[in-house]
Amino acid sequence: MRIKGDIHALKIPFQVPTPGGDLPRFVYVFPIIGQEICLVDSGVRRSEKIIFDYLKEMGIEPTDLSLLILTHSHPDHIGAAAAIKRQTGCKVYAHKAERAWIEDVDLQARERPVPGFFQLVEASVAVDSILNDDDVVDLRGDLSLEVLHTPGHSAGSISLWMEKYRTLVSADAIPIAGDLPIFEDIQSSVRSLHRLKALQNIETLLASWDDPREGLRAGQRIEEGLAYLERIHKAVGKSAQETSPSDPMKLCRRVLRELGIPEGLANPIIARSFQSCLQAGTAQDLMI
Ligand SMILES: [Zn+2]
Repeated sequence: MRIKGDIHALKIPFQVPTPGGDLPRFVYVFPIIGQEICLVDSGVRRSEKIIFDYLKEMGIEPTDLSLLILTHSHPDHIGAAAAIKRQTGCKVYAHKAERAWIEDVDLQARERPVPGFFQLVEASVAVDSILNDDDVVDLRGDLSLEVLHTPGHSAGSISLWMEKYRTLVSADAIPIAGDLPIFEDIQSSVRSLHRLKALQNIETLLASWDDPREGLRAGQRIEEGLAYLERIHKAVGKSAQETSPSDPMKLCRRVLRELGIPEGLANPIIARSFQSCLQAGTAQDLMI
């Protein structure tokens, strides 16, 4: 669907295999269709068909796609990147802290074993250019993307600001209250959210795991994300006093219960999020 002007959003449904059965999820990717055709994130394995069909409906050949920006290396963002690059010849841009896991998905699967990893990711893909904080990607015409390094969810997560449309692509940088908490470093996450909050007059917020938000709702999502991190931090502190913090999975189940999320969804990725809370110190240290 068209969001505004050159900005489009495609919702891609997929299943995450868990011991309790498949968990339905979705992820958004964002085609930017101006003088230059750019795609922000690739979606999971086989998403290229949905993306190419959409471009064709707009009268655009997939080979016109010149740029794929990956906001970070997680499976639902890079799963179809190899196929898209192979079939379009586009360039791939990402932050340097994500490069290793994009270019070597076997390494990522070993170091961050998401359930069903290879159902979600087709193959490794080479990164052609590194994006740094404050870089500006010129998409010709009067459209450009400002790169904001917003680590926390992952070390090299980026958000993209489009001044022309006062639109922010936040990808996974803003945690969604009540959703599974996935971050590597809560302290960086909090800092990143404060940085996004400081952007003036966000008119549209485009997150990967949330429907597009307009106007005041955009700013509210950032506030809600911060409040959720505070809640998680407190829940981890409380649970660590009641159970052995040296057993990450036990602590994970206990914290999920505290947050009202089914314990059966506990996995090592979420356990890692909670371990980062233990290392972050007090709420005051977090600047929450
Ligand atoms: Zn992610």
